[in-house]
Amino acid sequence: MQLRFLGTGASGGTPGRGRSQRLESSLDVEAGVRLLIDVTRDFERQSRARECLDAVLLTHAHADACGGVGQLRRWLRSRGVERLPLYAGVATIDALQKRFRRLDHCDFKPVRPGGRRQLGSARLFALEVPMRARSAFRPSPGASDRVDACWSTPRTWPG
Ligand SMILES: [Zn+2]
Repeated sequence: MQLRFLGTGASGGTPGRGRSQRLESSLDVEAGVRLLIDVTRDFERQSRARECLDAVLLTHAHADACGGVGQLRRWLRSRGVERLPLYAGVATIDALQKRFRRLDHCDFKPVRPGGRRQLGSARLFALEVPMRARSAFRPSPGASDRVDACWSTPRTWPG
């Protein structure tokens, strides 16, 4: 499995000079399939070197994680791809469907906390991480060492 951080900045990116300047957080995963974790508002810049993509995992419905959904549509269309699987929590999918008019390129795959998926050679575990509470990140007992990656799927979404 190969990971490439496309951005490690805060929402809106992290300003600064040189190495301290960072795009919004996104992760490229090569694991027999090409996965992208989060489609940020910086997707256009982050996808320049990318030729193909098999699926997207969305962590939450904020613009810093999903704001590039429109850019993703243009990117897919320019490569002759009509639809792409997007794995996300139900609350995230609901929020996107309210926010965006054009989502015909999104083949939403709802994931519940605790749900497991095998995509290529990557074993994924969906983990709920409360957004409001100040709580320490703590993998649930189901997240064993047989899991390659966890991503958050909030059950509810602050309004
Ligand atoms: Zn966010």
